[in-house]
Amino acid sequence: MKKIQMVDLISQYNGIKTEIDSAIQEVLDSASYINGYQVSQFAANLAEYLNVKHVIPCGNGTDAIQIALMALDLKPGDEVIVPVHTYVATAEAIALLKLKPVFVDVNEDDFTLNVNYLNKVLTSKTKAIVPVHLYGQCANMQPIMSFASANKIAVIEDAAQAIGADFISKYKENQKAGTIGDIGTTSFFPSKNLGCFGDGGALLTNNKELAEKCKLIANHGQKKKYHHDIIGCNSRLDTLQAAILDVKLKYLDDYIKKRQEVANKYDEEFCDIDGISIPFRSEHSTHVFHQYTIRIEKNRDLIKKKLAEAGIPTMIYYPIPLHLQRAYIQEDKGNGTFPVTERLSATVLSLPIHTEMVEEEQKYIIENFIKILTQING
Ligand SMILES: *Cc1c(COP(=O)(O)O)cnc(C)c1O
Repeated sequence: MKKIQMVDLISQYNGIKTEIDSAIQEVLDSASYINGYQVSQFAANLAEYLNVKHVIPCGNGTDAIQIALMALDLKPGDEVIVPVHTYVATAEAIALLKLKPVFVDVNEDDFTLNVNYLNKVLTSKTKAIVPVHLYGQCANMQPIMSFASANKIAVIEDAAQAIGADFISKYKENQKAGTIGDIGTTSFFPSKNLGCFGDGGALLTNNKELAEKCKLIANHGQKKKYHHDIIGCNSRLDTLQAAILDVKLKYLDDYIKKRQEVANKYDEEFCDIDGISIPFRSEHSTHVFHQYTIRIEKNRDLIKKKLAEAGIPTMIYYPIPLHLQRAYIQEDKGNGTFPVTERLSATVLSLPIHTEMVEEEQKYIIENFIKILTQING
């Protein structure tokens, strides 16, 4: 058996090597490394897949959040509501622009922003919400969108972990993660569900004005070369990455299906085991399983260590909540402020899940996991 990995990018590449290699070769032969035709071609294909009007490629998922916030013209000190259980990038872009990240706790079940807190943190300075579709499942967008429209605040969806997930609404057709709010952002970091061979990201929007603004910002604030209308940045998706992504996009639905099969198998084997909770399946979203994240109430760290000794890597997303990170500490928000997030940091564990997982590997993981859990927790 191969060495078990959280994600197996080499096997995934080998499965589509001929197509990828020829896409790369074509870029090399043209030497159009920046803004080659593959960039706009991929953007158009992704827009079609997501059923969204505009896709603006950029350098990475963190830049995408920053560009989205810049496009909203917020002022220093304006407040942006963000779940405290997320990757740092979400809050980082907010803080970098001298806006104030206003943390809220997440739901105990689906780990996404708890909408009951929105009213409690609303002030006259609240200008945006950045819900995060964590681990591959959409946040509860319907109440978030109603709240935002009632209070005239913008919604930027961080869909870095949920590309391809469907938001299921009682009132409308399904919509893809990232296409519901004013702007959606995503990342093509190699281990993401649609990953390139380096860094990459994109902004998604149905709003023409915001699309043009984002495009302008990502390109030094210039529409015409050397004519700078607003302050922007330099954030591009390389032609090579776009060419790779355009090939991989065709396989995205198959990749999602494969991840779901692995998740279903884990669910089946773990649902009756005492002391762990399998991932919650939300009724307002499909789950694309960027992560298969369980909760272990007792001895999580010891179990993680024993699994590693048995050759099974696992990850903790995220070990330290944002409000307890030195860079993001806020005076009145110490330990105990966000009890659900704090509990999650101590209990979540993400197991290996990827598109190339074979039965033998998964069987080994399941058997050893149950054995170790029983040895330690009885
Ligand atoms: C990966 C990720 C990002 C940032 O993506 P990069 O491309 O690495 O900058 C942002 N938010 C979330 C939730 C992520 O998982």
